[in-house]
Amino acid sequence: MYDVVIVGAGPVGLFLACELGLAGSSVLVLEQEARPGSVWRAMPLGFRGLSVASADAFHRRGMLRDLLVASGAGDYPVADPDADEAAPPARVGHFAGVPLDPGRIDIAALPFRLPGPAMEPVGTSLEAVEGVLSERAAKLGVEIRRGVTVSAVTQADGHVVAHAGDETYAARWLVGCDGGRSTVRKQAGFDFVGTEPRLTGYSMLATVADPEKLRPGFNPMPTGMYLRALAPGHLAVMELDGGAFDRSRPPGREHLQAVLRRVSGTDVTLSEVHFASTYTDRAKQPTTYRRGRVLLAGDAAHIHSPIGGQGLNVGIGDALNLGWKLAATLRGDAPEGLLDSYTRERHPVGAWVLDWTRVQVATMSPDAHGRAVKALVHDLLGTRDGTTYAYEKLSGSGLRYDLGDDHPLAGRLAPELRLVDGTRLGDLLREGRGVVLDFTPERRLREAANGLDERVLYAAGPARDDLGLDAVLVRPDGIVAWAGERGFEQAAFERAAGRWFGCAAV
Ligand SMILES: Cc1cc2nc3c(=O)[nH]c(=O)nc-3n(C[C@H](O)[C@H](O)[C@H](O)COP(=O)(O)OP(=O)(O)OC[C@H]3O[C@@H](n4cnc5c(N)ncnc54)[C@H](O)[C@@H]3O)c2cc1C
Repeated sequence: MYDVVIVGAGPVGLFLACELGLAGSSVLVLEQEARPGSVWRAMPLGFRGLSVASADAFHRRGMLRDLLVASGAGDYPVADPDADEAAPPARVGHFAGVPLDPGRIDIAALPFRLPGPAMEPVGTSLEAVEGVLSERAAKLGVEIRRGVTVSAVTQADGHVVAHAGDETYAARWLVGCDGGRSTVRKQAGFDFVGTEPRLTGYSMLATVADPEKLRPGFNPMPTGMYLRALAPGHLAVMELDGGAFDRSRPPGREHLQAVLRRVSGTDVTLSEVHFASTYTDRAKQPTTYRRGRVLLAGDAAHIHSPIGGQGLNVGIGDALNLGWKLAATLRGDAPEGLLDSYTRERHPVGAWVLDWTRVQVATMSPDAHGRAVKALVHDLLGTRDGTTYAYEKLSGSGLRYDLGDDHPLAGRLAPELRLVDGTRLGDLLREGRGVVLDFTPERRLREAANGLDERVLYAAGPARDDLGLDAVLVRPDGIVAWAGERGFEQAAFERAAGRWFGCAAV
C-alpha cells in the first residue's frame, strides 16, 4: 500500500508529489493522459504566469533555475539577488485588463521585502512547469502511472482505494488534484458551492485574415474583453453571455468569429481555427478540503475564471501547505490538528481567489452597475495605495494565515533572510524541513532546535538584514511560525515549535 495516491499529474499534483517525496512518503500519481505535454500545455496556449510567491516556492525547493531554463525566461531575474536592498518590482500585471504601474507601488508599505533570486513573476507554460516537476518527482522516487483514469474512490478503515477500470490502487491517503471537473471531488462526496457563470471564455490559435483590426494586449470592451496575446493568432476572448454557450461541443470557426466580432466591435475574419477551447467564470469550492482520508488541492478545490491568472498560483500554494502536513501525519509526528490546518489556512485563500475573479468580471459588465464598479476600480488603481494593494495580492506577498500570533511577520511568507556568511533562507528550505534562524551571539535556540531533530534545520550567525529580529522559526512551506524580537521569551519559541512540529521536541 502506498502512503499517498495523487490523482492527476497536472502542476499541482506533481508539486504535491515532490513535496511528499522529499519528506520520504511513498507516492503514486495516477494520470489519465497517456503522454505528458499537448498543444494545450505548450506555448502559446499553455502560457501561464507564475506569481512572485510561486517563483519563490520553486526557488525554495531548488528548482527555479531549471524552471527558468525550461520556460526560456532568459531575462530573469531583473534585479541583483545579492544587493543590499530589494529593487522595486519591475513587473506587476493587470487587474481586469487594466495594467498596473510598477512606479506607483509604495515600497515603504512592503517592509519585509528582502532581495532574493525570486523577486518577479515568471512567464512559463504548463509544459515547462510539469516537465521540471516530473523530473524532480522521478528523482525523489515518486511513481507516475499514465493512461490511468480514476473513476471511483472508496474509503475503508485506515485506507482509501482509487478505482480505474479493473485496477485498484490502495493508499493511506488520497489527494484529488484532478482539475476543475474532479472525479475525486464528486466520488468522495464533497459539496461544491458558489456562483453560476456570467461569461463564456475562449482560448484559441487561429489564422486571422486581418489582424490589424485587433488591438494588441488586453482590450476591455463593452460586452467582454479580448486579448491578442503571445503569438500570431493566439487569442483570448470573453463574452458576457450569461454563460450561455453550450460547452458540451467544441466551438466552430463561425461561432468564434461571431463572438470575436461582437466583442471587439470589428468585422475581423478568422480564416481558420486550429485549436479552440472554452471556459466560464463559474466560481465554486467545497466547504472543506478534507473528507476522511481524501483531500483536494488545486483546481479540484476551487474553480473560477482564469482572469487575473491566479489558479495555478493558488494551487501551488495548496500543495506547499499540504505536503509537509500530510507527511508529518504519515510519520506519526504531527501535532494534534496539523492536517486540519490545511483547510483552515487554504480554504480562505480559495475563497479569496473566487472573489478576486468575480470582481474582475463585475468590472467588465456592460450595464450601469458594471460601469460604476469599473470607474471605482480605475480610480483606486490610479492611487499608490490601490496599486500597492493589488500588487500584494497579485504577487502573493500579501498572504497571511491567521496563526493567532499578532507579530506582523507571523503567518506570512518568510522574507529571504540572509546570514552574513552568505547562507540564505531559501537555500535552507530546500530539504523541505522547518528552519530556525538564530541571530543571537549566544545562540540561544541551539539546544531547543536540536530537540526538534530531523524536523528542523538550525542555522545561526549574525544576520545581514535582521528586520529587528533575534530569531525566526519558519515552517517547511516557508511561512513564519514565530518571530522573536530582541530579548524574546524562550517559552514563546517553544510554544510555536510544539504547535507546528510536535510537543515531544521541546
Ligand atoms: C486560458 C487559461 C489561462 C490561465 N492562466 C493562468 C495564469 O496565468 N496563472 C495561473 O496561476 N493560472 C492560470 N490558469 C489556471 C491554471 O491553468 C490552473 O489553475 C492549473 O492548471 C490547475 O492545475 P491542477 O494541477 O490543479 O489541474 P489541471 O492542470 O487541470 O491538471 C489536472 C490533471 O488531472 C488529470 N485528471 C483529470 N481527471 C482525472 C482522472 N479521473 N484520473 C486521472 N487523471 C485525471 C488531468 O488529465 C490533468 O493532467 C489559466 C487557465 C486557463 C484556462
